[in-house]
Amino acid sequence: MCGIVGFIGKKNAKEVLLEGLEKLEYRGYDSAGIALKSPTGVLVAKEKGRIADLRSEVPADAFGEMGIGHTRWATHGKPSHANAHPHQSKSGRYTMVHNGVIENYSLLTDQYLADASFESDTDTEVIVLLIEMFANQGMTTKEAFTKTLSLLHGSYAICLIDNQDNENALRSEK
Ligand code: GLU
Repeated sequence: MCGIVGFIGKKNAKEVLLEGLEKLEYRGYDSAGIALKSPTGVLVAKEKGRIADLRSEVPADAFGEMGIGHTRWATHGKPSHANAHPHQSKSGRYTMVHNGVIENYSLLTDQYLADASFESDTDTEVIVLLIEMFANQGMTTKEAFTKTLSLLHGSYAICLIDNQDNENALRSEK
């Protein structure tokens, strides 16, 4: 049943994430992806299928000292490249992976994101769009993250990268 990996450290996160996802393969999954944050930005690679397929998608010279990874077991939206995690906010500032189910995603969409355009059919994307919406209203990332979590009904393990934060990634589990 899917898996999630996060890394911050003084070495390239790429192998840590890919090896971490390989260790989680036994749990079962239909797609996988990673995001690597470097000083030049966030690289996202994702693939429907095996970690071996994802490996060949990640550029050989990809580098980042912060990263997140995900194996997906689809609950909302078919297994596909677009539905694979990580998902990003509209501006690209936030990049996120999520395991679990957001039961009220459709309600949250109607209430807060009626004008938003979605790149996937997942319940997950609503989370990253909400975080950016609250940040755009003036909240810090931590406040926007906490506010978003307070609205979610369901289950979640989340890793989030803020491309404007060079110190920390936030994570939460419920
Ligand atoms: N509900 C999310 C999706 O369908 C996450 C599934 C999972 O836990 O892998 O993308």
